[in-house]
Amino acid sequence: MKSAKSILIKNGYVLTLNRTRRIIADGAVHIEDGRIISVGNTEELRSTKAELILDAKHMIVMPGLIDTHVHLAQALIRGCADDVSLVDWLKSYVWVLQGNFTGDDGRVSAELCMAEMIRTGTTSFLECMIHTRYGFDNIAKSVEEAGMRAALSKIVMDSTGYADSDDIMYPGMIEDRDACLEETDRMHSKWHGKADGRLQVWYGLRSLGAVTPDLFKEVVRLSREKNTRMTMHLGEVVDDVRFVRDNFEMGLTEFAQEMGLLGPDMVFAHGIHLDDADLNRLAVTQSNISHCPASNMKLASGFARVPEMLGLGVPVSLGCDGGPSNNTYDMIRELRLAALIHKAKADDPLVVTAEQAIEMATLGGAKAMGIAETVGSLEPGKLADIILVDMNDLGLTPNVNPVSNLVYSGSGHAVDTVMVNGRLLMQDKKLLTLDEESVIQRARERNQALMERADVKITPKWPLE
Ligand SMILES: [Zn+2]
Repeated sequence: MKSAKSILIKNGYVLTLNRTRRIIADGAVHIEDGRIISVGNTEELRSTKAELILDAKHMIVMPGLIDTHVHLAQALIRGCADDVSLVDWLKSYVWVLQGNFTGDDGRVSAELCMAEMIRTGTTSFLECMIHTRYGFDNIAKSVEEAGMRAALSKIVMDSTGYADSDDIMYPGMIEDRDACLEETDRMHSKWHGKADGRLQVWYGLRSLGAVTPDLFKEVVRLSREKNTRMTMHLGEVVDDVRFVRDNFEMGLTEFAQEMGLLGPDMVFAHGIHLDDADLNRLAVTQSNISHCPASNMKLASGFARVPEMLGLGVPVSLGCDGGPSNNTYDMIRELRLAALIHKAKADDPLVVTAEQAIEMATLGGAKAMGIAETVGSLEPGKLADIILVDMNDLGLTPNVNPVSNLVYSGSGHAVDTVMVNGRLLMQDKKLLTLDEESVIQRARERNQALMERADVKITPKWPLE
């Protein structure tokens, strides 16, 4: 679909997320050729001419949400590993299912995931580990067509362990070191910077236990040589800490530093089992943490020390993780959890405010993805990655403070309109770049075929007739 060259959004409650966090109660945003030209009062922009005018009355107008920890492939296995232990979660369900994926499953899952992300207000995402069997090319193509902004990370690994468990990986999930590096190289040459600059290709380091020190160092060298970035799960399980202590006699981030992994070009997912020295190292090196509160609660991984991280200046962003660990890709629900769980943990209602949660999901996400210069706030010169959230809803009434109302009462279903680079991906709650019905139908069929192929059966705990 071709988008309007010029767009005027008017009559909205505009959250700029600019340096002073300016809010405009009756605000307007003028967009030309995919870029924001001006942000101001509707009255000030009254004489602005535009091909398309969007009336945002009773709506929040804000930067698109940025999800920095997404497993695209796990949308197809949503709800396939609920209320089980982590080892069971991985070994009996998630790895078995993902290890039986075909390239078609990879594409359908990516489309299902993106349809949900767009539907719920996410404009950019960081996919953390694409296995060769999911079909990187097709996934990249589907992102190009769906119109989202994304960093796609290719898995790199050279060992079959996970944390302190040796040789635990499901056969279908194992990849060869040289093949991983070659595929990343090929995909980087083909896709990095493509799709009007919306696509990036990163290195997705599998996990501690699955990558040897030699490969860690090689990936750091290659990533910096290509001027791209890296992501990796870190400290999601306490076994990570034990693994590094037993094998290298070091703390987690001490080891990461030794491998060269720390820096603003690294996004660590979770970062739960970290001590004071770890947090300081992350702050000093400006290494990013992608905080995933829903996943951390569902898998009983623990509480990331987000209030301390924010206090120290560690860059923190938000992630939904995956279909079997969350089980949604709805960032507004994730905002709610991020703002709630730390209050209970710290016994302090003042920690992680609604505003801080939104900052993590916009400015923090843009920083983590290395795109803070171009997205993450509504300011002249920035790209028009914008969402309109409809607050004219029973569950959002009265709307006394739209910022905290969005976080504490909202969900992604309130999102009305989504644009990336000024191109509309959803308008009036209707997806424009993906066929919602077809996505649902194909995802159902492929899930069923996958479950049969992998011989995974999910039965309800209650008697089923
Ligand atoms: Zn993950």
